[in-house]
Amino acid sequence: MKAVTVIGAGLAGSEAALAAANAGVPVTLFEMRPVKMTPAHRSGKFAELVCSNSLGGEGETNAKGLLQAEMRAVGSTVIAAADASRLPAGGALAVEREGFSDHVTRAVRNHPLITVRDEEVTALPEGVTVLATGPLTSEALAEDIARATGTERLAFYDAAAPVIAFDSINMDVAFRAGRYDQPADYINCPMDKEQYAAFYAALEQARSHTPHDWEKLEFFEGCMPIEEIARRGPDTPRFGPMKPRGLTDPRTGRWPYAVVQLRQEDAEGRMWSLVGFQTGLKWGDQKAVVQLIPGLENAEIVRYGVMHRNTYLNAPEVLTETMQLRADPEKLVAGVLAGTEGYLESAATGWLAGLNAARLAQGLEPVCPPQESMLGGLTRYLATANPKNYQPMNTNWALVPEFKVEGRRKLGKREKRPLMFARGYDAFLGWARGVGLNVTERVVPTS
Ligand code: FAD
Repeated sequence: MKAVTVIGAGLAGSEAALAAANAGVPVTLFEMRPVKMTPAHRSGKFAELVCSNSLGGEGETNAKGLLQAEMRAVGSTVIAAADASRLPAGGALAVEREGFSDHVTRAVRNHPLITVRDEEVTALPEGVTVLATGPLTSEALAEDIARATGTERLAFYDAAAPVIAFDSINMDVAFRAGRYDQPADYINCPMDKEQYAAFYAALEQARSHTPHDWEKLEFFEGCMPIEEIARRGPDTPRFGPMKPRGLTDPRTGRWPYAVVQLRQEDAEGRMWSLVGFQTGLKWGDQKAVVQLIPGLENAEIVRYGVMHRNTYLNAPEVLTETMQLRADPEKLVAGVLAGTEGYLESAATGWLAGLNAARLAQGLEPVCPPQESMLGGLTRYLATANPKNYQPMNTNWALVPEFKVEGRRKLGKREKRPLMFARGYDAFLGWARGVGLNVTERVVPTS
């Protein structure tokens, strides 16, 4: 049997190493801290939480709650560590961070099949390998990953625009069209002069609340945050990302004064991003500004815009839904480097990459959970999302198929989310048993 190499002992790499070792495969895990630190980590502990201490909302109406339940069922160590160190946090899985990292560090270091090497890896090794070096991947390895995947497919910072759930867009106001005679691939939100003035004023007001750390980043003109574009003058957005030229509103027969366009993000059309609206505004301000856009009055933002340093691959161009590199299937990628966002998503994709690395080492086919499960929905998104301006994705309900009941009225969120939770959880358990995993049915923790 071949052995597996894992690089990075963060959220994804720790879970990957344990998943592979628990499948009976020897693992060598490389971690450069504390010998070489990143700008965000403070210790040499594994699975260090670099900022907030929350692994997201819990419960059966919550998308992160479903992902936690799936991971708990297959024995995730990150979730066991969270359950063991949880703090009261009103519906969120918040943890005491030192105890959490200590738990994961002990589990990894004490595993008889895991050998830890406290070293920086500077080039991709031979053989089955999980790359889990995160948003702050060291420079030498990042260069080698860029060489292996294509330079333009590795990004070094996020400049993300908000992503909206399709079923929250008011299509009585917004309209589908392409510019001039181009295909009607975009959803367009039209604004008249007064609406534009109100929107611009709100954007200016929100900008004044924003810390300007991101200004230290060097932006390409095409990735300028919308608030920075607005700072250049009241008409600049209208001649930039909000230009109305060639977009005839079918309700007036004219070009609007300004337009906000949305581009499809996922293969099924459940998520749409605001074109040219990358932003570092605070989340409350983002929501207020977005909901001033005609057609988005009730917009559900499934992923907020962000501007920060980040190293990640253009997942749909380079990854399969089993977390393998298309160009080199013995290399698997997990965590933020694989184009996800968040502690929980990093650990979950780490678990799947570790399981599949072990399967490859054992001569078995890699596997992927069903599309109704949250992990299956997330990894399918990574492999099939729109690669144009790809931005890392976090867990949300739009990743899994819509829940429809034959011959009935459309279900409201409150009704359908517990049903989507049950459908996804059952599908995940059935799949896990089918691929020979030990499953513990335990949606809620036993603490
Ligand atoms: P990491 O947890 O960063 O693990 C990667 C590991 O690889 C590190 O231990 C690193 O030392 C090691 N490494 C890197 N290069 C090498 C190399 N060449 N050789 C050997 N080892 C190497 N997400 C949230 O959900 N909530 C938050 O509040 C949050 N805040 C964040 C704040 C910052 C500043 C950043 C950068 C990200 C934040 N994230 C947050 C996003 C993300 O969820 C976390 O970064 C998460 O830790 C990512 O998990 P990971 O396993 O992909 O990477």
